[in-house]
Amino acid sequence: MKRERVLIVEDEPAVARGLEYALKLEGFEVFRANTGAKALEMTSREQPDLITLDLRLPDMSGYDVCRALRSQSHRQPILMLTAKDEELDKVLGLELGADDYMVKPYGLRELVSRIRALLRRAYGELAAQSENQVHRFEGLEIDLTHLEVRLEGEVVELTPTEFRLLHYLAARPNVPVSRSGLVEAVWGYEGDVNSDRTVDVHIRHLRQKIERDAANPVRLVTVRGFGYKFQGRRM
Ligand code: CA
Repeated sequence: MKRERVLIVEDEPAVARGLEYALKLEGFEVFRANTGAKALEMTSREQPDLITLDLRLPDMSGYDVCRALRSQSHRQPILMLTAKDEELDKVLGLELGADDYMVKPYGLRELVSRIRALLRRAYGELAAQSENQVHRFEGLEIDLTHLEVRLEGEVVELTPTEFRLLHYLAARPNVPVSRSGLVEAVWGYEGDVNSDRTVDVHIRHLRQKIERDAANPVRLVTVRGFGYKFQGRRM
């Protein structure tokens, strides 16, 4: 079996070593970068399956790294690790394309299970479950074989989390799904108030990518006080 590869972006050597040790014990192949510049370079060179990203790096912020990775079309899951006093910043991280975050101090066991959940939903589960399947709606195709979304025939670049969220909703068209239901299905853990915001941010991103007018969505519709539904008719 192929070992999954994780890039740890962290400038504090003790923290980085602790993470590396825990992940290696779990069978991951681990790379380390202690600056933002190295993180970008190593992502291009090593193509890790997942990136853990510290927010405060000596040369640039985790946000900048996140933005740069996404603008270079790196789509692997990014797990942001933030300090306790940076609550507002978590949302910014998600805005810039991170998939999930954890607040320091976190337990290593919880971290490993988050990483596994991110990897599973990014690469494993979907492909295995749904071979040769395409959900077709007017102007929009969700292709589970190629893990690809096409809007009017053009491929739209989605992160694995965005893909999974869209797929989950589109697989049950016109059925409202609660935010906590989405957290459980898409992120793989139990929802709370914070994770509701995670859902909202990812929905907003998806709207920017697949709606003609993100401010007046016709596909990803808000169900007030509850959650979201995918509106559309199968072709
Ligand atoms: Ca740091």
